[in-house]
Amino acid sequence: MPQHPPFPHLFAPLDLGFTTLPNRILMGSMHTGLEEDKGDLRRLADYFAARARGGVGLMVTGGIAPNRQGWLAPFGAKLTTAAEARKHIPVTTAVHEAGGKICLQILHAGRYGMHPMLVAPSPIRARISPFRPWEMSPRLIRATIRDFARSAALAREAGYDGIEIMGSEGYLINQFTVPRTNKRTDTWGGSFENRIRFPLEIMRAVREKTGPDFIVIFRISMLDLVEEGSTWDEVVAFAKAIEAAGATIINTGIGWHEARIPTIATVVPRGAYTWVTERLKKEVSVPLITTNRINTPEKAEEILASGQADMVSMARPLLADPDFPSKAQAGQADTINTCIACNQACLDHVFEHKTASCLVNPRATSNPATPPTAAGNVAVVGAGPAGLSCAVELATRGLSVHLFEASGAIGGQFNMAKRIPGKEEYAETIRYFETMLKKTGVTLHLNTSASAAFLLEKGFQEVVLATGVAPRIPALEGIEHPKVLSYTDVLYDLKPLGKKVAIIGAGGIGFDVAMYLTTDDHVLPDDAARIVAYQQEWGIDPTYQHRGGLTTPHPEKPTRQIWMLQRSKGKVGATLGKTTGWAHRLTLKNRGVQMWNTVQYHRIDDAGLHLTVNGAPKVLDVDHVVVCAGQEPLRALQGPLEAAGIRVHLIGGAKLAAELDAKRAIEEGMVVAQTIRPG
Ligand code: NAP
Ligand code: SF4
Repeated sequence: MPQHPPFPHLFAPLDLGFTTLPNRILMGSMHTGLEEDKGDLRRLADYFAARARGGVGLMVTGGIAPNRQGWLAPFGAKLTTAAEARKHIPVTTAVHEAGGKICLQILHAGRYGMHPMLVAPSPIRARISPFRPWEMSPRLIRATIRDFARSAALAREAGYDGIEIMGSEGYLINQFTVPRTNKRTDTWGGSFENRIRFPLEIMRAVREKTGPDFIVIFRISMLDLVEEGSTWDEVVAFAKAIEAAGATIINTGIGWHEARIPTIATVVPRGAYTWVTERLKKEVSVPLITTNRINTPEKAEEILASGQADMVSMARPLLADPDFPSKAQAGQADTINTCIACNQACLDHVFEHKTASCLVNPRATSNPATPPTAAGNVAVVGAGPAGLSCAVELATRGLSVHLFEASGAIGGQFNMAKRIPGKEEYAETIRYFETMLKKTGVTLHLNTSASAAFLLEKGFQEVVLATGVAPRIPALEGIEHPKVLSYTDVLYDLKPLGKKVAIIGAGGIGFDVAMYLTTDDHVLPDDAARIVAYQQEWGIDPTYQHRGGLTTPHPEKPTRQIWMLQRSKGKVGATLGKTTGWAHRLTLKNRGVQMWNTVQYHRIDDAGLHLTVNGAPKVLDVDHVVVCAGQEPLRALQGPLEAAGIRVHLIGGAKLAAELDAKRAIEEGMVVAQTIRPG
């Protein structure tokens, strides 16, 4: 019987007339920090070449400014001179040698620029920026149009296959197109025709400078998700005008950075925005790219097969696994290291001015030399993220690896994370490691508590301890009371809870527990049901009745009354991720969760939790108190093993419980595995 190729729509070529893309996968633009490397762009070249070798159809660089005012941050990457263009030649050469195609994104930040030179159509400060922009004069507007065209021409000179014009996400072009930020009364503002004049003139000028055989992607804001954004009719009219002005492809942009709706975080269901692209498909004939939270070949294929779009954009999924396309095409989708949309090592890093990496793939933007192959036996104790990463790396190097896990399943803390509504993606990392353990030949021993005597008897000379953590139980009167549970009782052992719950500790796990306890719908049947629930929770209107696509949010009615407590003074949730923390805080606030800081705990008894809040004594009459007060390391094996002369390597929570962190755990597992030399 003939075998059907996997994902036929995903791997169908796309003929653009003057060039053909080998498949429908776009690695969308994503700032990594490599764009600003001093000296040359060698690391950026290696980064994109790796993705080109992995078989992606087309890539787009992070945003490059067309002039200084357009910088996102001081001394950000710009393309304004032939000398700057020459710096990009290693990038385009490396990509072409690897058989790929790449476009350069031109991004003018407008009022989102984090510097005092920022400009905008009108002098209105964004709520996420400390700076008020300068209003652009008509002369500056015309000069900026020329700057876009100059950057496009320089990109062509540097060997790029095309450019993307960033017209969405609330950046300068988007600031011109909507009444929210364009209050001008001249020919560049007021009527819709005037508001879209700036992007249309950019599109025309770019096409004129670059010629007909150059890819020009225009990224349109199809759904602003802010008040006074575009209407649907305006989106359609704008897209038609951009098509007529010469765009090769139109890409989907969703939500402004200042929108109070999460659009790419893990709480966003897979494919939550393909409906917007699908609506536009009926209106234009250029190929359309859809985007946001598409992270598996199955989802991408489903979208393309149902005709919602012509291409799918996946940026973070290709950061997580450069070989995503080739693995999917070879029928090995189960070996893809799936992006879990945590933002922890990519976007959060960029916001902290660090180079982006990836929580599940520490090699995402750096390519450490493969360590020499080695022989020998190594025991890894504990199959959480740290132990799994270490075991796979050791086995890849050729070592014989025995992985011991006391419970009946691999995954450690991720087994709890995957149960949190909106964090279901964490199951993908467990699936990935499950596949990789088999593929690399790790011998897995589940339900096996490896004691020191057992490991000695088996003759291991090198032992990696990835034994993780135990919940910290504070010394508090009444902590033994039956109404006190630890977070593992709730998330791991699934113990039932009453209707009123106090949570001691408001770190990442306190928030996870609160999220879990405010809903009983822990598992929604499919993506479609999740998308409906998400749209209702955040007030997204798929019928697009109002500007920006907004409607009244209907947060989920909480199934319990929850109090989240912390002793320290700061904002509750201040330690959460930079780009996702606000959404967690807002979700719980909308669900009526009380968040108290400056709390002193006294005791727990039949009456509830006795405490003082800002000096005022209170008793919280709760059914349960869930302790989420951090962790203590579990490393009892270290002493006896070292005493017997065994080389012990501590990683993950067992090494440092205070900063229990999957990003560190996975990276530490990999790095330690590279240093082990048995014998
Ligand atoms: P954590 O972030 O360190 O928070 C521990 C909480 O317990 C704090 O709110 C702390 O606040 C409180 N606490 C500490 N010692 C206490 C004591 N003796 N008595 C009472 N309260 C005490 O730890 P976590 O919540 O267990 O999270 C661990 C790690 O998991 C985090 O570092 C994070 O990287 C990761 N994680 C992150 C997320 C996320 O960002 N969404 C989700 C899950 C896990 P006070 O000292 O002010 O009382
Ligand atoms: Fe995806 Fe998280 Fe990796 Fe970013 S850090 S690419 S969101 S898995």
